[in-house]
Order: sequence, then C-alpha cells, then structure tokens
Amino acid sequence: MPQKGTRCPLRIHGSRPAYPQDTRSGPVDTVPTSVARGSDIIQKSPITPSSPAAPLPAANHSLPPQKTPAIEPYAPVLSLPTETSAIETQTTTAPTIQSTTPKLQKKRSLQTSLKQLDIAGAFDNAWWPAIIKRMDNDDVPSDLIRIIKSYLNNEREVKFTYESETFYKKLTKGCPQGGPLSPLLWNILLNDLLINFDSMNADIICYADDVTIICWNKTIEGLKTASEYTLNYVIQWCNRNKLTISTEKTNMLYLHNRQKIPIKVNNNIIMPVKQVKILGMKFSNHKWKNKVNFTPHVNDILCKAGRMKNLLCSLSGNMWGLDTEKRLTLFKTIIRPVLTYGSEIWLKYLNNRCKQKLNSMQYQIILWAVRAYKTTSSNCVHSLAKIPLLTDYIESRIIKFDLAQMSIEDLITYEPHAPSIVKSFLHAKINEIFENTNEIFRSFFVLGIPRFFRPNFYNIQFITDHGNFGKFLATIGAVKEPGCFCGGEIQDARHLLLECPIFLDFRENRFGRIGQLDEFVDKKEKYKNFDQFCKYIYNFLLNWKKEKES
Ligand SMILES: [Zn+2]
Repeated sequence: MPQKGTRCPLRIHGSRPAYPQDTRSGPVDTVPTSVARGSDIIQKSPITPSSPAAPLPAANHSLPPQKTPAIEPYAPVLSLPTETSAIETQTTTAPTIQSTTPKLQKKRSLQTSLKQLDIAGAFDNAWWPAIIKRMDNDDVPSDLIRIIKSYLNNEREVKFTYESETFYKKLTKGCPQGGPLSPLLWNILLNDLLINFDSMNADIICYADDVTIICWNKTIEGLKTASEYTLNYVIQWCNRNKLTISTEKTNMLYLHNRQKIPIKVNNNIIMPVKQVKILGMKFSNHKWKNKVNFTPHVNDILCKAGRMKNLLCSLSGNMWGLDTEKRLTLFKTIIRPVLTYGSEIWLKYLNNRCKQKLNSMQYQIILWAVRAYKTTSSNCVHSLAKIPLLTDYIESRIIKFDLAQMSIEDLITYEPHAPSIVKSFLHAKINEIFENTNEIFRSFFVLGIPRFFRPNFYNIQFITDHGNFGKFLATIGAVKEPGCFCGGEIQDARHLLLECPIFLDFRENRFGRIGQLDEFVDKKEKYKNFDQFCKYIYNFLLNWKKEKES
C-alpha cells in the first residue's frame, strides 16, 4: 500500500492541459459544467462530486459491500513520496532506488541492462475505464467504486479564455491535477502491469510514472531478446490502456564491458547510452569493475553545490552580509540536501577519493559560513559550525534509513533506543572532530564550545590562530619575522590576548587579571568583551601595518 498521505510531487506544479497549442499564455481553469457558461465564477478546485451515490452498472451491485480492498500487491513495487516539500521528497525516493541497485549488483556475473521508460503524459492520460475495471477486479467495495466513478465523471471541463473568446473542452481521461487521490488512482492502473509482469530474466520497478526495467542474461544475444521482449510487453500493456511509451525518450544502459548492441522495438532502434538518470540519480557502468558507478552522479552534484557556493559567496563576504547562523542554516537547508540526495544508496559505491571530494566541498562552504581564513583547519571550522563531516552525516542518514526499513517488532526487540542512535552517532562524530582540533583552539574551549559562542570574522582569527598575526603571516611567507612590535619573539593569538603590553589597558579594564585563554569565553558577559577585544586588536594591527608601510 502506498505510504500515508501520499502526494505526487511531479504533478503539483505539473503542466495544465495544453489547449489550444498556439495560445498558451492565456489562463486555463477546469470548471464543473454545473457552473453556468458565461459566468465569471471560476472553480479552482473542481473535485466536488455532485452525485456521490450515482447508480452503478448492475454488475457492481453484486460486489460484497464491506470487503477490504485488495491493495496489498502495491507494496513491494510502488512507493510514493510522503511530503511535497522539496527537501523532504528527496528522501522518499530512496527506497525505490535502493530496490534497483542491489538487483543490479546481484547480476554482476551476467550481462545486464537497465532501461528507463517514459510514459508520455502518464497522469494526464490515465484512462478512467481501466482504473474502474482494475478496482472491480481487485474486489474493491462497490460504494468506493461509485465514489471514484463520480469523482472522475463529474463532467469536468477545461475553460480557456483568450481576449473575448472562451473555449471549453470536456475531460475524458487523466487524474485531476494536484488531487490527493491522483497518485493512488495511477497506482491502481499501473499495478496491473506490475503484478502480471512475469519474466525469468527481467524485473520491473516503478515510482509514480517512472518505469525502470532491469534485464539480465548469460549472453548478449539472450539479453537483447529479453530486453526486446520486456519492452514489447510494456508497450502492449500501454496500448491496451491507451497510454504511449515514448521510445525516443527510452534510455538503455549496459552494465558490462562487452559488446553494447542496440535493440529494436516497435520499428525504433534504441541505442545504448553511457548514463541513465532515474529519479534524479545518474546510473553508469564502472569502466573496469563492471559494476554500478555513481561517480558521475557525485561529480554532477559537486558541480551544482559549487555553483550554489559561488553564488552565496558573491552575495555575502567575510565582513559583510549574512551572519554565521543564517549562513549555516542556508547550508543545512539548501545545499546539504543537494549534496546528500540519494546518498543512503550511493555512499557505499564510492571510492575514498570521491568521499574526500564531498567532505572538501562541505568544508569550503562552512569556511565561508563561519568566515574563517582559507588556511583554517577542517576540524576547527566543523567544530565551530557543530556540523559533522559530510560522509559522517550520510552515515547517520543510512542508520536512519535502515531503522525505517525495520518492522516495529524488530525495532522494539533489537533497537530499544532507536530514536537516540542517530543522535548519539552524530554527537560522537562531532566530539571526535573537536578532539582533533589544534592545541590553541582547545585552550579556548576546555569544556567544549559554549552555546552562546558565535564565530565571526574577528574572533575566529584568534581562536584558530589563523589571522593577521606575525606568526601566521611568517608561516605563509607574507612577512619575514614572526615577532611582535612590542619586542615579543612571537606574535600569535596567545601573546596578543594574554601577554602583549600594548593591550594591557584594554585587557585589565575589561577582564581584570586573566591567565588562561578559556577565561575569555567561559561566561556570556566576558564573551561580549572578548569579541570587542578581538576587533580592537585586529584594527590596531591593521592600522599599525598601514602606518609602517606609509
Ligand atoms: Zn606584543
């Protein structure tokens, strides 16, 4: 059975009936015929059955009125998203993709092909009599069938007004756009294909109107025959249900390194491609290892995230624009979902180099978010942002995903603390990163990073010791000597904050006697002064440098 509260993300903003073709700019609305023609009232939601108890054909009266609908077969093959928001829907496609990849991996010893089919205007062309027939065949109670019939046959029309002319077109097929029932109606229709599909050398997997077929055989010729047979089977089913497979948009990927031959279906030649995109994930064949390869997919999402990062960088710099918290929120809510889409599935197929690239991309974005110098260590910026490495975050998603696949009984028996597992895992990973930060960073945060601490352009230079100081500038070769203008041998964060006599007055006025770095940030009141102290020293150093140069 499809998941609770299912809605189809593909059609929420989907195309409205394109009628007439040459004047698409005009407004189009569907209206029940009960609305008087010529009236200005436009029903935005035409799904109000005027006669829910409309009489049914005699055959349906014989159905047992309280029988439970036989909808069990939908479960293993169909899954629909539970949410409609851009971020949440991304996770719900994972079970479908997950069911695809192991099947491909199992066939590694055989010649395998993956085909992605496109049913032209699937939801718009769902044939009502076929849906009703399927419900009848599945012993759906007659009352329910009557409601659905009434819902579909409610004399809906498309009204199109262009200048002074108004056109009408009666609807005879299609699941209503944005209707909460539409995905279920489509599933009822498509279920017929899925439960009757029976091939020793092929498997079919669907998500809403996305149809994927996996074929395998010992020989290439056998694979070709199996592919042509299954495609023909699906095409014939579509023909019977007044649907069309667009063979031009059908893609086929071979998962082996031998001869890659085209197949012929319906007098159309389908050429093999190097990549197939299924539910937003690119599948390709590994050049050497003859297995599913997600590296091109990861490279794609890295490019996309890189573009987003560049855009954000151009909109706010180190000393202006959004504050750190807002930057981190942008990363977590917009960029990270792009980087981790389908990651529960693809992470285990990646090599270490690819994983490093992902972590590096996150590091660069967090660097921008906390406004640190580009040389600041990954551990420091991740600790300040309180964000785990991207690969660790994905691992936590995998744990969550695996827990979601378990039955309630298993969860109670084996994982009594399931809800806290993910939280503890992430907590441990963030702690691990903190333990690996440099000595001066930990000197500030002996008891961990306090909640009130907010990294900014000034304080982050001191807590990471990567700033406009003699020692750091000498390390990167910007100055010859690491010493301080007060005569001190080394000018670093510790010297400037605790020892340098130039800042003695400021230090004693604001903090009194202070001996350790962590005393600057252990209390909220002191922390405010610390921020000002950092800014004061930074500006002092800058001015001193300018005066020296002039
Ligand atoms: Zn000094």
